[in-house]
Amino acid sequence: KEETNYTLVTGGAGFIGSNYINYFCGKDSDHIVNLDKLTYAGNLDNIEVSERENYTFIQGDIGDKELLKELFEKYRFRRVVNFAAESHVDNSILNPAAFVETNIAGTFNLLQNAYSLWMEKPFHLKNEFNDVRFLHVSTDEVYGTLGKEGLFTEETPYAPNSPYSASKASSDFLVRSYFHTYGLPVLTTNCSNNYGPHQHDEKLIPTIIRTALNEDPIPIYGDGKNVRDWLYVTDHCKGIHLVLNEGRFGETYNIGGRNERENIYIAQKICELLDKMSPRNNGKSYSDLITFVVDRPGHDQRYAIDASKIENELGWKADENFESGIVKTIKWYLQKYQK
Ligand code: NAD
Repeated sequence: KEETNYTLVTGGAGFIGSNYINYFCGKDSDHIVNLDKLTYAGNLDNIEVSERENYTFIQGDIGDKELLKELFEKYRFRRVVNFAAESHVDNSILNPAAFVETNIAGTFNLLQNAYSLWMEKPFHLKNEFNDVRFLHVSTDEVYGTLGKEGLFTEETPYAPNSPYSASKASSDFLVRSYFHTYGLPVLTTNCSNNYGPHQHDEKLIPTIIRTALNEDPIPIYGDGKNVRDWLYVTDHCKGIHLVLNEGRFGETYNIGGRNERENIYIAQKICELLDKMSPRNNGKSYSDLITFVVDRPGHDQRYAIDASKIENELGWKADENFESGIVKTIKWYLQKYQK
């Protein structure tokens, strides 16, 4: 009987992790073990493949030393994809401690366990496969903010401005150190803002759609001129999988859709599409509901990614631009919010 290979996916009940599992469970030959604490951000309804034989869910904390030891011994994971994180910048301003615990200490605990399984007791050298690998999913926010010009490359110095991005930057450095110090086969991806199905209600795009449909004011921070580089979540997941399988160990890869848009453009575009896809009863445009609110402290002005490395080295390219991805996204949220 062929041996089953296991991939540990952490945070798989959240937005990007669930899209990753929904897309790759079955397409990839490994059995996926999803370890998720189910914080307010995790929701098992996000998983569309939970009945599959090659999928297992375990509720738990990546910071739990005993649990991780037990799981690494039991499944002898050959790959780890680390999505688990506290991910909302506004929450990091109010409660930074949880960000330090999960994003930094939790990632450290994962690295330690991968190290002791793969490097101290290198089981994989005795097996037919020797392709163990650890992919850490991170953000472009570690690079800080850009002015009107320029793009983040893999060489851009880290300059995080929020407790969220500082905790992600710390975890990226820990991951890097496990390669340089111990030779752990790690990979890091730094991605721009994602959007698509299963994103938590608190984030910008679901908030715009939901408040519009509820006839509530659509809140936009400051003057709405902050720029983000938007990537459709499935494109991100495909990039992660490619780096996981074909990336060079110890390297980081920026993933971005070359879709820079101002927040106010995002709000107006969504309103324009909703006007067609779900018109208001009063005949007016949803854009009447757009309301500027006091800016977030330390709000980064602009993020934009140079994705040349993953494009040239691994042949990745985003399939969706913002205008095509947002139509799919709105269709999905219309079903969710109009149930
Ligand atoms: P999310 O908040 O939607 O999901 C995070 C998941 O992690 C949740 O299911 C939560 O229950 C789980 N989790 C939290 N703490 C945990 C712990 N201690 N142990 C186990 N599970 C825990 O986040 P997301 O938007 O899917 O982001 C996933 C990853 O991608 C994060 O590392 C984030 O930094 C990164 N990222 C996100 C974006 C984006 O636009 N959303 C962009 C770039 C990078």
